[in-house]
Formats: sequence, structure tokens, C-alpha cells
Amino acid sequence: MRMNRNDNCWCHSGKKYKYCHLTLDEKVEEFSRMGYIVPNRKLIKNTEQIQGIRESGRINTLILDEVNEKITSGISTEDINSYIYELTIRLGGIPATLGFEGYPKSVCVSINNEVCHGIPSSTRYLKDGDIVNIDVSTIYNGYYGDSSRMFCIGEISSERNNLVEAAKNAIDVGLEEVGPWKTLGIWVRLSMILSNRKDIP
Ligand SMILES: [Zn+2]
Repeated sequence: MRMNRNDNCWCHSGKKYKYCHLTLDEKVEEFSRMGYIVPNRKLIKNTEQIQGIRESGRINTLILDEVNEKITSGISTEDINSYIYELTIRLGGIPATLGFEGYPKSVCVSINNEVCHGIPSSTRYLKDGDIVNIDVSTIYNGYYGDSSRMFCIGEISSERNNLVEAAKNAIDVGLEEVGPWKTLGIWVRLSMILSNRKDIP
């Protein structure tokens, strides 16, 4: 929808369009013309929404920090689940995975070669040498926070240590790249280059 410069901005800030989102919209349009996939207005969050997401992320991180204090060999993945459930409720949040498409638990706990989304169980115990991914998502005041963290139980093999280090390095490199007007990947740029090259079928 096209807006006039003097209209009230579509974001409901109460400011005139020309003093609010006009510049951003023009830049988004420019990216769209260049062939990039651009976010729609619903995906562009206002200050209050960003603050809500930040708060939810803070609670989510706090839960992982608390898990770090508790996690040890001999506990079951269900123990981790019930701890996270109770802590999340106590902090005023809701575990986002609980009941999502029928998922029965408040967290995903994946041990060693389980890639992700391991379902907590009272018959699975952590033992020394395990590497464990704990994936927590929290709804707080209607906003979602979501992150996972790796935990190493006791002494782990150098092979497992290398895996954990490589994954950590990969995410650090990825985070370094995050910024305004950056893309999520090279795909769009690559397909644009290819589509402009008539000599490539
Ligand atoms: Zn605006």
C-alpha cells in the first residue's frame, strides 16, 4: 500500500510517514527491485515489540544459566524437563514447546549423536563424557525467546570437544555477520549473479 509523505505512518507511531518509516520503506523497495526477498511490514517490529522480544530472550537465557548450575551426570532428561517447567512458570513465562503440535515436554534435550529435538524421558540419564544440547523456548508477555546451549558432562573425548568447539566457532562467525541490511545467506546474491549471467544455463 502506497502512503503519502504527510500521512500518519503505517506503524501507528503517530508520526508523519516522512519522519518515520518512509526512508526504511524506500530502502526495502530498492532491495526488492534488486531481487532480494524482503520482509513484509508485519515482520518489522516497533520499539515496544523489540523490547518485549528482548525481555523474553533474557528470561530464556536465565533459564539456561540456571540449568548450567544443576546439570550433572546421573540426572535424567526428564529431571531437566521438570526443572525447566517449574522455573519457567515461577519466572512468569510459559514453555513454548509444551503442547506445540502435541509436543509433550517443556524443552528438547539431545544427547551426543541426537542432532536435535530429543524428547525428555525418565529412563534416559546423563553420564560422564556426554555432550548435551538443551534447547529452551519461552513465551513471556506474548513474546518468544528461543536458544539452545551445549553442556559437557565431566571429561569429554577430544573428538566430542572438537565438535562442540567447531559448532561454537561457526555460530560466533555467523553472529559477527548479523547486522542491518545483511542477508540470511548467500543464496539470494548467488541466484541474482547467476540470473544475470546469460552464459550460465
Ligand atoms: Zn513508522
